[in-house]
Amino acid sequence: MSLVGIHGVSLRYGDRQVISRVSLQIETGEFFVIIGPNGAGKTTLLKALSGLHPLIEGDIQIRQRPIGDYTKKELARTLALVPQQVNADFPFTVAETVLMGRYPHLGLLAVEGKRDLELAEQAMEFTEVIHLAGRRLGQLSGGERQRVIIARAICQQSEILLLDEPTAFLDPAHQLRIMDLMERLRLREKITIVMVSHDLNLASTYADRLLLLKDGTVENIGTPREVLTREQLTKSYGCTLLVDENPLLGTPRVSLVSEKVAATISKDSGEL
Ligand code: ADP
Repeated sequence: MSLVGIHGVSLRYGDRQVISRVSLQIETGEFFVIIGPNGAGKTTLLKALSGLHPLIEGDIQIRQRPIGDYTKKELARTLALVPQQVNADFPFTVAETVLMGRYPHLGLLAVEGKRDLELAEQAMEFTEVIHLAGRRLGQLSGGERQRVIIARAICQQSEILLLDEPTAFLDPAHQLRIMDLMERLRLREKITIVMVSHDLNLASTYADRLLLLKDGTVENIGTPREVLTREQLTKSYGCTLLVDENPLLGTPRVSLVSEKVAATISKDSGEL
């Protein structure tokens, strides 16, 4: 039984349809990455998965139960969303923000107990923001803020983590930190990771499977080796990309090829 089942889902903004009849399954403990050109519908699909976007057609089930049947608290115990943009004006400290992740687990009085405080501390240690505990979100860099929101999501102890481009705007060291963190969560805690990313090489390195979305429909779905082919990427992104093999991992490695270089090579040899 798949953990997440998306069946014939269509989504729209006003009368504009942006996702058309998408169907797929995500398994427990999978590292699932959604890629595709700008405007393909990646963020909208992720929002729908988190219950934040109404479906006009089809259904989304978690453990074979439609997400519409979950109460808000149940859904928050099941999945946590790390959005693309984190509001820097959020008037709370890092520790307070992370502790908010406990809300779905609190009783009627909504008072945090010792265990909740411990879990918040552990999450801050795990994402290496414990030294920032007393600072307000507005006093942090983009990367630090991102790690705080991930800590809140971890503190939420949900089975599924949904992340929208968590590595955008981060330098390579911080990109790796976030991705390795996700990998550890998946391996240690069996958490299922669903991530939107523009970084094809990070996707290739970490993902079990990729969904390539284009114009709101599934272009391809499969392992990085199945999806990240030169033919597929050239067709989907409309530019020349070189795909060879990562010498360390054997996974596909994608490089950008400028128009000038592409023209020279195709003139000389007829192919890249
Ligand atoms: P992606 O994440 O793949 O870049 P999005 O899911 O953000 O794509 O957007 C899919 C389409 O929906 C785009 O054409 C975008 O312009 C449109 N869109 C996104 N958000 C809104 C909105 N709030 N209102 C109207 N259209 C939107």
